[in-house]
Amino acid sequence: MNTKIWEKLEQMVMLRSLRARIFVIVLVVGIVPSVVMRYGIVNNYEERAVGHRITEVQNQLMILANHLIGNNYLMNYMSEEQTYRNSKEVIDAELEMLSNLYEGRVMIINKNLKVVTDTYGISEGKTIISEEVIKCFQGQNTAHYAPEFGYIELTTPITNTVATNTANVGEGAKADANQIQGVMLTSIATTSIVETMEILNRKAFLLEILMIMIIIACAWVLSTVLTKPFSRVTEAINEVKAGYSDESISVPDYVETVHIVDAFNQLLKRMKALDDSRQEFVANVSHELKTPMTSIKVLADSLLSQENAPAELYREFMEDIVSEIDRENQIITDLLALVKMDKRAQELNIASLNINELAELILKRLRPIARKKDVEVVFESIRPVIAEVDEVKISLVMTNLVENSIKYNKEHGWVKVLLDADHQYFTFEVSDSGIGIPEDSLAHIYERFYRVDKSHSREIGGTGLGLAITKNAVLMHRGSITVTSREGEGTSFLVKIPLNYISS
Ligand code: ADP
Repeated sequence: MNTKIWEKLEQMVMLRSLRARIFVIVLVVGIVPSVVMRYGIVNNYEERAVGHRITEVQNQLMILANHLIGNNYLMNYMSEEQTYRNSKEVIDAELEMLSNLYEGRVMIINKNLKVVTDTYGISEGKTIISEEVIKCFQGQNTAHYAPEFGYIELTTPITNTVATNTANVGEGAKADANQIQGVMLTSIATTSIVETMEILNRKAFLLEILMIMIIIACAWVLSTVLTKPFSRVTEAINEVKAGYSDESISVPDYVETVHIVDAFNQLLKRMKALDDSRQEFVANVSHELKTPMTSIKVLADSLLSQENAPAELYREFMEDIVSEIDRENQIITDLLALVKMDKRAQELNIASLNINELAELILKRLRPIARKKDVEVVFESIRPVIAEVDEVKISLVMTNLVENSIKYNKEHGWVKVLLDADHQYFTFEVSDSGIGIPEDSLAHIYERFYRVDKSHSREIGGTGLGLAITKNAVLMHRGSITVTSREGEGTSFLVKIPLNYISS
C-alpha cells in the first residue's frame, strides 16, 4: 500500500519537473507526426493502388463487353452454329486471359440472372441474385473492395450501344439501343497491392523506429541542455547557502534565470545590510554602555588614589558618578523601548483617545525643563482631535519631539506645538527656534545612536535613540514623519497619523 503511494508521488514529482515535461513534449511532438505519416503513406498508397486497379480492370471489361455485344454472345451462347461457336471461343479465351492476368474470376450473367459463363467453370447455369448485379442491371457500375478478404468485386453492364440486326437474332430477342443485355461480375485478387503495402509498411516501420530513437536522444539532450541554467542557479544559491561565497550570483542564460538571480541577489544584499546593521548596532550599544562605565571607573579610581581626600571632593565625584549611572540607565531604558518595538509580534494597544488632552499633559510635564532653559512652549490646537492610537507610543513620540526641541534650543528660544486634523489624519507639528540640523545630517537623524554633534548631545543627555524610537512608533500607526530644518534657525517635525487605526 505504502509503496504504491510512493510510486504515485514519484510520478507526480517527475511530471512536476521541467526537465521531464520538456522530454515528454519533445517526444510527443516528434513521434506523433512520424506515426501519423506512416499510416498516412500506407493508407494513401492502398487507396490509390485500388482505385487505379479498378479503373484499369473496368476499362478492360468495357472493351470486353463491347466484344460480347458485337458478337451477340448473350443471344447465341447456346447456338451450335459454327460462326457463333468460333466467336464464343475467341471471347472465352479473352475472358480467360483477363482472369489470369488479374488473378480473378469473371462471370457473365444474362437478363434472367443466369450465369452464362464462369471462368472458374463452377457456377454456369446457376442463378445469381445479388444486390450488386441488380444495381448494375439498373445502370449502375459497382466496385467493392474487401481488404479483409483481399479482393475487389466489380460489376460491368453489357450494354447494347448499337441497334443490332434483328434478322440475325432469334425470335423475340429484339434489342434496343442502350439496353442492358447482361452483367459482368468480376472479382480480382489484390495480392500484389497487399504485398507492396507490406513491404512499404515494413520499411516505414524501420524508419519510424530509427526516428523514434533519434527523437528520444534529441528529447534527452534538449531537456538536459534547456534546464541546465536552472541547475546552475540552484548550484550558485547552494554555494552561497553553504558559505563558500557571499558574492552576487549571475546566470545570464535566460531572461527567467536573470529574474530569479536578480531577486536572489537583492535578498542577499538585504540580508547583508541587515547583518551589517546588526553588527554595527551591537558595536554601538557596547560602546555607548562602556562610556559611562569608563567615566565611573576613572572617577572612582581617582578618589581611591587620593589619600585623605576632602569630603567636598568625595561629594563632587559621587555626584558625577550618579549622573553617569543615570545616563547608563537612560540608554538601557531607550534600548529596551526600541527592542520592544522591533518585535514583530508586538501588538499595539489601540484605544480611542483625546489627543488634545494628551498633548496638554505632555507639555505640562515638560514645561519645567523648558523653564530651566528659558524656552517658551506654546500649544495651539486648531480643532479637538479624537484618534485610535496606542497611548504609550504616541506619548513617546510627542515627548521625544518636544524634548528634543527644548534640548537643542537656544536660550530665550521658543517651541511651538500645533495640533490639527482633517477627515483622515491628525497632524502634530513641533517647531523650534533651535540650533537646527545640518542638511547632510537630515538623512541620518532616525538612525540608532546617530547624533549630529556627539559631544554636545552627550552634554545635554542625548542617547541618539530618541528619533529612532519616534519613527518606529509612527510607522507602527501607519503614519509618517518629516523634518525641515535650517542650521542656526530652527527645526520643524511634522507627524501625520490616521485617525482610524488601519490593521494589516
Ligand atoms: P538624542 O537622544 O541624541 O537627542 P535623537 O535620536 O532624539 O537623539 O536625535 C538625533 C540627533 O538629531 C540629535 O543628537 C540632534 O543632534 C539632532 N536633533 C534632533 N532633534 C533636533 C532638534 N529639534 N533641533 C536640532 N537638532 C535635533
